[in-house]
Amino acid sequence: MNLTSPSQVKAWCIENGFHPNKALGQNFLVDRHALEAIVAAAEIDLSQGPARILEIGPGLGVLTEALLATGAEVIAIEKDRRLAERLAEALGNPPRLQVITADALTVDWPTLLKDGFQACVSNLPYSVGTRILLDVAFQKAAPKRFVLLVQTEVAERFAAQPGTADRGQAGVWLQLDYDVSLVRTVDRGCFWPKPEVESTVVRLDAHPCPLSEAERECYFALSRQGFMHRRKQLGSLLRRQTGLLACTDEVLAQRLAAAGLEPRIRPEELTVGQWTALSKVYAEG
Ligand code: SAM
Repeated sequence: MNLTSPSQVKAWCIENGFHPNKALGQNFLVDRHALEAIVAAAEIDLSQGPARILEIGPGLGVLTEALLATGAEVIAIEKDRRLAERLAEALGNPPRLQVITADALTVDWPTLLKDGFQACVSNLPYSVGTRILLDVAFQKAAPKRFVLLVQTEVAERFAAQPGTADRGQAGVWLQLDYDVSLVRTVDRGCFWPKPEVESTVVRLDAHPCPLSEAERECYFALSRQGFMHRRKQLGSLLRRQTGLLACTDEVLAQRLAAAGLEPRIRPEELTVGQWTALSKVYAEG
């Protein structure tokens, strides 16, 4: 089957009594140009030996097939047993493909990632895409690059800059460890069945993190607290906290000053550098 032919994909589903499951985000990519853009953005490099690529949600295998064609090894995790069981055979049992039937939300990531992946390249299911990415991206052995097809709204949140309406927790977290760039938009018509919203290819490239483990903990706790009420002033949001963020009002004022922050600044206005500076001050105690 030509997996970029909407009519062939549709015919396969009808012949096999397969009804794409909306809850599992089963909108299959059927556009060659979008597919090529995803694979190109992954910049798979075989010069240092085998390139292991993680794919989450291979579905019928359109992206899996394109990734294998680069010479990469693909480890694909699919929750839908019916799709997982047919995948290897449908692609001709390639020796460089391993299919794991599993829910990416409950996978033991440290074990799965321990042998290292060059990249994670996936068309993620809409409803759980952000959760899956956040689970994988902060693992110690996370791939150094992610190329993901996600809802445009979600991609824009990952890449959002301070002071913009899309600025939120996911962007502030991801940008601590990754450069995030939007590669291209993908029209609804590039999928079958057609989803309700536009999609975008987003790329994340790991960069060194300037924080120690203790400082990172503060970074995540501070930004989590901050984005509970993104338009409130940081000074009032951080008052009377417990646990890691506990301190008196006086110490809070000193900490904000030490990080060079006005108490009236709003969480959505802080740069990653400012969150980082505040986390260092908090970790010092
Ligand atoms: N890669 C295929 C493509 O581009 O056409 C399918 C992408 S489709 C948007 C998302 C895929 O993720 C589906 O195959 C779906 O069954 C699978 N999926 C949904 N939730 C999942 C989960 N929690 N863990 C693993 N796979 C999941």
